[in-house]
Amino acid sequence: MSLATLPSGPPSPPRAAPATPAGRLWRRVRWWLPGVIVVLLLGATSFLLTLSESQERAALQDQLITDSLWVRQSLQFQLEREAEALSLIAADVGAGQLGRAALEARLQVFLRRGRESLEVVLLDKGAPSLAVLAHDTASAGLDPFSAVPSAVLEGALARATREGEPVFGPPFATPWGAALVLVAPVKAGSPRFLVAVYWLERVLEEMVPWTFAQSHEVTIGDVTGTVRARRASAGRGRGVYTHQVPLEVAGTTLLLGTNSLRGPPDWITNTIRGGTVALALLLFWSLWALWRDVQRRVAAETRLREEVAFRRAMGDSAVIGLRARDLDGRVTFVNPAFCRMVGLPEESLVGRGPPMPYWTPELMDEYRRRVDQVLSGQASSAPFETVFRRADGTRFPVVIYDAPLRDGDGRQVGWMSSILDVTEEKQAEERERLQQERLQAAGRLATMGEMASSLAHELNQPLGAITSYLAGSLNLIERGGASADDLAPALAKASQQAQRAGQVIRRVHEFVRKREPQRAAVDPTRLLEDCRALAELQARRTGTRVSVEVDPATPAILGDAVMLEQVLLNLSRNGIEAMAEVDPGRRVLVMSARPGEGGGACLAVRDHGTGIPPEAAARLFSPFFTTKPDGMGMGLSICRSIVEAHGARLAFVAMDLGTEFRIQFPPP
Ligand code: ADP
Repeated sequence: MSLATLPSGPPSPPRAAPATPAGRLWRRVRWWLPGVIVVLLLGATSFLLTLSESQERAALQDQLITDSLWVRQSLQFQLEREAEALSLIAADVGAGQLGRAALEARLQVFLRRGRESLEVVLLDKGAPSLAVLAHDTASAGLDPFSAVPSAVLEGALARATREGEPVFGPPFATPWGAALVLVAPVKAGSPRFLVAVYWLERVLEEMVPWTFAQSHEVTIGDVTGTVRARRASAGRGRGVYTHQVPLEVAGTTLLLGTNSLRGPPDWITNTIRGGTVALALLLFWSLWALWRDVQRRVAAETRLREEVAFRRAMGDSAVIGLRARDLDGRVTFVNPAFCRMVGLPEESLVGRGPPMPYWTPELMDEYRRRVDQVLSGQASSAPFETVFRRADGTRFPVVIYDAPLRDGDGRQVGWMSSILDVTEEKQAEERERLQQERLQAAGRLATMGEMASSLAHELNQPLGAITSYLAGSLNLIERGGASADDLAPALAKASQQAQRAGQVIRRVHEFVRKREPQRAAVDPTRLLEDCRALAELQARRTGTRVSVEVDPATPAILGDAVMLEQVLLNLSRNGIEAMAEVDPGRRVLVMSARPGEGGGACLAVRDHGTGIPPEAAARLFSPFFTTKPDGMGMGLSICRSIVEAHGARLAFVAMDLGTEFRIQFPPP
């Protein structure tokens, strides 16, 4: 999180409401509730599907039963008609109304009505003879009658004799399939019978309606339940919807079985069930994803809260004033340090736009310019120094650092400023400056002290000359007759010498006087010439020659002439002292001015002395470093601080003989 998102206004970070026991329970339950609801929904759907499936099954089963009964009825009716038709023919045979040819013709008609009857045989039990009277064309080569088991035939014959009615025997197996016999007595008590053999598969083919056979497998079995014939023209039944019904015909009972080709209504139910499960799983997954997302958000929110609290604590504990402004310059945030600094409460600052209550009236224009610059994005990131006003009217210096304030997307939403109260620093700076000034003045006094004897000597000359001139003049006056013309040249010379002495004293006074630094353009030639007089005073003791070299191209220097003189004098004194031990012929001090690096002036003081030993070089500018028994070690340290106060650099270069100290000024 960036500070950009710090909320403005009351300083309480957002906190989660404390959880009550009921709230905690609800929080735990609310994640399970949707899952439980989904499971219940799944159960309810499954139950409804099962219910509707079983209802559908029941309806289809009922339909099958109805259809089976109808088929049974149809079969019963047709088989009874067979029996009836055969019994009519038998009756005609019994009445002796039919010759053999006529009988055969009638039987042929009988057989041709359907493909299920294969053969009709006239059987005489009295004189066992067998007369095959008629065959169906389909029975060629089968010899159906001989396939009839004798037990079946006997049973049927006995029953027909007993009842005097045509009867069917139970179904039986033959090499070509299942078959059935129909026995019709020719006359009551007569040992003659008409026996018809039926092919049971054909019975099913001919007598079961085609539409029913299309959707069902139909079987005929005997009472023991053994299936004897089957019609499965459209395929085997699925065993889901089945029914068995007894088919009672004269003389025997058959079992009619039906087995629907229809399977259970699986795919619809399964599809719905599968779809529901898939949807439930999807729902679970989306719930889980939602839960994960919420967890992540909760974690992020917690982190955010901690971060806000952390940042707020940071802002609250900072000793630097913090202030955020929006793009219109309105204050959106201030920290306690800033409030303390300006002595105003947060409420009276947040939401305010310029002019701010802590602006000092005399600097209004400067503030406005700065605000405009900052808001238009032209302000540099460099610190900005100004003065603020406390609520009690006192002023204090501040340094302001402005930085753009961005939101989470990196868009700038305002400005963040750190404000530093630099009152103490300013006071320390002022103290330091005064200290430096005092030190420099002391340095100058010390220099003068050292030069006192030379000065006395310097002053002695004009004073001696004045004394001589005045003594001469007095002599003339005492002798009498001295005219004003005689006295005038001597007095003029005395006055000249007095002026010279006054000049020396003024210069010394000027040099030593404690004064405020004054910056002005300093001519290098003038500076070096002024210095030469004082340097020569120092040089006289050791018989050192002072030479001044000025390159006319040297630019002017911006600075304080007296201070620069102090530096040059210090350097020349050091140079002169460094040459005290060398051959007198080498004792030449060169003060020079020339154009330096980057176009600024370069002043140099060069000696031909002993040079600086390497172990001394590193500590040369440290205060109190000296190699001289009576040295203070402050000279170079003061020189450097004066030079740096001018924005210049002081350095030294070892030469073949001696050292050159250089002051490099910035371009004017
Ligand atoms: P002081 O002159 O009182 O010793 P300074 O700060 O002026 O203090 O000088 C510090 C030391 O630097 C001197 O003691 C001397 O050893 C060395 N020094 C300064 N200038 C020169 C020079 N031109 N040649 C050799 N040594 C020098």
